[in-house]
Amino acid sequence: MQVISIPSPSKPLQTSSTRSPEKIAYENNKLHKRLCRLVGQAIGDFNMIEDGDKVMVCLSGGKDSYALLDILMTLRERAPINFEIVAVNLDQKQPGFPEDVLPTYLDKLGIPYHIENQDTYSIVKRLVPEGKTTCSLCSRLRRGILYRVADELGASKIALGHHRDDIMETFFLNMFFGGKLKGMPAKLQSDDGRHIVIRPLAYVKEADTARYAEVKQFPIIPCNLCGSQENLQRKHVKQLMREWDKQHPGRVDNIFSALSTVVPSHLMDKDLFNFRDLKLTGEAIANGDIAFDEEPCAPSIVPLSQYESESD
Ligand code: SF4
Repeated sequence: MQVISIPSPSKPLQTSSTRSPEKIAYENNKLHKRLCRLVGQAIGDFNMIEDGDKVMVCLSGGKDSYALLDILMTLRERAPINFEIVAVNLDQKQPGFPEDVLPTYLDKLGIPYHIENQDTYSIVKRLVPEGKTTCSLCSRLRRGILYRVADELGASKIALGHHRDDIMETFFLNMFFGGKLKGMPAKLQSDDGRHIVIRPLAYVKEADTARYAEVKQFPIIPCNLCGSQENLQRKHVKQLMREWDKQHPGRVDNIFSALSTVVPSHLMDKDLFNFRDLKLTGEAIANGDIAFDEEPCAPSIVPLSQYESESD
């Protein structure tokens, strides 16, 4: 079995040498509860899973998809609705992919699963010139295969393990390099129009999935078996967010909450807001002329208590 160590979480796990077993158990339980709460909240906010759904959980062998499957299984036991889970792994035939790891893990869990064997690795190697990034073609091929497998399995939802940091990184990448205000949706219709793709970890921080993977000792499979380098631009954005988080606590949280608090009339997209037909109504806006006012600072940056103590 090939297993890699988990990337260092932002708050390192304290080991038993520094904390009592009770304290460790308490912290681990808190983490599990937080993950369940955030995943449950995202599922509810976006109506991701409905009664009778068959959810195909895409399992890559990375920390995030293991966490996704684990938390969805917990939530299924508690949910007031009935839904099925089927785990699917696409074995892309990267050299050195440890074929036995996921079946062994899933057998132990005792849930239905399917391993799809498709040699996309050779296709990508053949079609992409040496030195060029392979991920875009690879993920397009993978997506097509997963849609087909979902059809064959009769799955109504396809669950992916992208988390809050993936969503924000994509948002910045699209803005910096694509000139678009566009992130990664928590729920969308698949390209073939036949499935709904969901991202139940949308509210979960990567640091939490990393810690959870350590706690649960998931048998992680390396993600660089294909030999591809991590996308340099994504790496740069990741680093940028890490620095913000360190130097300006609360900033990353606020950016994330901004993604769900959009004011089309204060942006420039003429398709989103009908500026052309904007007319005088002659009616005052309730609470005064707020159109030009700055929004107050979000509480997560400057706690109210601080204002109170400053004004005392
Ligand atoms: S890292 Fe390798 S396996 Fe993953 S998307 Fe890129 S090319 Fe595909």
